[in-house]
Amino acid sequence: MSFTLHGLPVSGGIAIGQAHLMSHATLEVSHLHIAPRQVEREVARFDAALAEVRDEFASLKDRMQHAPGEFGAFIDLHTMILADPELAETPKQLIRERRCNAEWALVQQMEVLVGQFESFEDQYLRERSYDVRQVVERVIKELVGQPGRMALRTGKGVKEEDLIVVAHDLSPADVIAYKDHHFAAFVTDVGGSTSHTAILARSLRIPAVLGLHNARQLIRDKEVLIVDGTRGVLIVNPDARVLDEYRLRKSQIELERSKLRRLKTAKSSTLDGVDIALHANIELPGDVANALDGGAEGIGLFRTEFLFLDRGDMPTEDEQFEAYRTVVKGMGGRPVTIRTFDLGYDKDLHPEKVVGDRMQSNPALGLRAIRLSLAEVNMFQTQLRAILRASRHGKIKLLIPMLSQAHEIDQSLAAIERAKSSLRGENVAFDEAIEVGAMIEIPAAALAVGLFLRRLHFLSIGTNDLIQYTLAIDRSDEQVAHLYDPLHPAVLMLLAHTIASAEKVHIPVSICGELAGDASLTRLLLGMGLRQFSMHPGQILSVKQRVMQSNCSELAPLVRRLLRHEEPGKIREQLEKLNG
Ligand code: PEP
Ligand code: MG
Repeated sequence: MSFTLHGLPVSGGIAIGQAHLMSHATLEVSHLHIAPRQVEREVARFDAALAEVRDEFASLKDRMQHAPGEFGAFIDLHTMILADPELAETPKQLIRERRCNAEWALVQQMEVLVGQFESFEDQYLRERSYDVRQVVERVIKELVGQPGRMALRTGKGVKEEDLIVVAHDLSPADVIAYKDHHFAAFVTDVGGSTSHTAILARSLRIPAVLGLHNARQLIRDKEVLIVDGTRGVLIVNPDARVLDEYRLRKSQIELERSKLRRLKTAKSSTLDGVDIALHANIELPGDVANALDGGAEGIGLFRTEFLFLDRGDMPTEDEQFEAYRTVVKGMGGRPVTIRTFDLGYDKDLHPEKVVGDRMQSNPALGLRAIRLSLAEVNMFQTQLRAILRASRHGKIKLLIPMLSQAHEIDQSLAAIERAKSSLRGENVAFDEAIEVGAMIEIPAAALAVGLFLRRLHFLSIGTNDLIQYTLAIDRSDEQVAHLYDPLHPAVLMLLAHTIASAEKVHIPVSICGELAGDASLTRLLLGMGLRQFSMHPGQILSVKQRVMQSNCSELAPLVRRLLRHEEPGKIREQLEKLNG
């Protein structure tokens, strides 16, 4: 039966391929009855998985020796849960008595334990149910042979290029692991269009649709799918006519793309001769090739926290130095803006490995980004030293995420000074004049931008979070995705105010949120005075095309007029005029 689902268009293009269903460990463990003669083998499999996870915790503890005490305490707690007979022995009883497979036995016992913890009055004890789940999740992953993240396995004779991944949810870490794969597209039930999962999908340059609600349930393995990532449409089991239509659209899109490629070496300037810097956002050193291929004149945002996510522990100073140096050397003298870790919120694959027991009820408003870096002094110093060491190999700028208070700026600058002086003490060379800038991604920062302009060398507006915090909508929650509106008058006011304030004092300002790569907004931003954009490499050429067709001096008065409106209809009408 053919049917169509609608979700959030997250990464453009069309893919036609075969459904490949992904499963989440504890959600979907298989429930198998085993033969009596297999019971002891199943028990041994369970013991082996426990031993593997126990060893993993022990080696983690070793590596964390110099980390703050809470890291160790956290790992101790998980080791204790793992060794508890309720978890280590009772499932074996279930395997023997109920003849169920190890995964199923463990999940049954987990439900019992979680129920017990959740019934405690004491909040601390109640919250330990989360630890039980985490420990069980690890053992299950070990049992199903996919520690760390979901595995992508192709069937016999099926190429990855023909597969469309269908998942209930993918973490940013899952997606980053896919950078080493070449599948055709992916779709998920949950996730917002500016979630980090979505951002990574765009960087994979494959079509993606998120927020399909129950695609994972409705679709079967190997069914034929069409993903229209531009319109947010997923067609399951299309008939021949629809398939033909989409094949045609796919080749038209490919033709458009090849035409755009001719602009790669064209100068990025407007009709009235204003130069516009178009930079790339990257997540890993391996993305540099894409950035150059897309025609980037620099890296406007290197999201360094992704160095963590597919490994789950902290990279050492030397490892980080190598990563930063690779990027800066790869960019051959072009500027590279390195953002310090933006961990927390949706980017903790293994929170127990990285930042200890810091579970929060509202992580988007919690200890995220610079707040976490300032709390984790050693982690921050390690990163700053690595960035500074790399700064002698090219033009590096340092970008701090999620600042809102003057004292956080001052503390960050003091931390940079401390890292500098430790390097000086060791006679290690670095760029003494390294520029330091702030992400403007909290409304308070945009409104009180003077605090930033007086203390820093440059600003970069993170519209993904700025919109999230201005409109109070979780960017990774598809249920409120329809409220995510870059054209909300409050958002436009904050953007215009930040850009104009920076311009007045000649401090460079760029936008590195997803909005910068949306060619339908390029003229609006040029009219506000923006002269630097940073986006996914794949978006640079379409934005460049728009830049080359625009005239800044004509746009400025039109945008001033647009900004006088508050009514959404009027704003859209004016935008259409700009783009017309
Ligand atoms: C932003 O918030 O707009 C941004 C660029 O940072 P991130 O998407 O990594 O939060
Ligand atoms: Mg952000």
